[in-house]
Amino acid sequence: MKKKRAIAVLQILRRTFTMPKRIEAKRDPFKTLIVTIISQNTADRNTARAFERLSKQFEIKPEVLAKAENSQIEETLRVAGLYRNKAKAIKRVSTIILEKFHGSMQSILSLTFEEARKTLIELPGIGPKTADVVLLFSANQPTIPVDTHVNRVSKRLCFASPNGDYDAVRMNLQLLYNPRDYLAVHVLLIAQGRRYCKARRPLCEQCPVNMHCPSRGL
Ligand code: SF4
Repeated sequence: MKKKRAIAVLQILRRTFTMPKRIEAKRDPFKTLIVTIISQNTADRNTARAFERLSKQFEIKPEVLAKAENSQIEETLRVAGLYRNKAKAIKRVSTIILEKFHGSMQSILSLTFEEARKTLIELPGIGPKTADVVLLFSANQPTIPVDTHVNRVSKRLCFASPNGDYDAVRMNLQLLYNPRDYLAVHVLLIAQGRRYCKARRPLCEQCPVNMHCPSRGL
């Protein structure tokens, strides 16, 4: 029953929103990692601006960022919040990838899914969501990163238990969908959360999946 509802919701969301073309392509894992570090608690627009400024100043490679001056990285990231912490995390992650993984993330991504995820999470400043973003977008691994929108929308649709933590929500969603749909589920639940299922005052009347939502009108 829940699975049928989940599939119906995904079909509607596919018709409602367009999947951005650029994310279909396999992304450079190190760039994905850096973008995701910058994006923590930061609006998309400011993340893009900060990454663009960083890219203009430095080649986005571990060997370059590991040797860059902290203050120079900070300067490029000022448009993103917590830029001092993020600059520090970028430099530390770059140094570890350079020294421990021979400057390439391929040695991490060629591990089994669970080992790769664990190794990524052990890197400084990298949490489960960042690890899952890298694994999904850059290694085509079967995982659904759970950001604030995915978490909220999944719970309102009763696809995940209300008190479920990050991994519980991720597993609940993964059990409902086919792995080939994980990327679409991640992207489309975010779009749904931004446009209709807003944190405050969700637009239930206009929501395209309201006939499948037990929380309609909350
Ligand atoms: S009906 Fe309301 S609560 Fe349910 S998914 Fe749509 S906006 Fe969210």
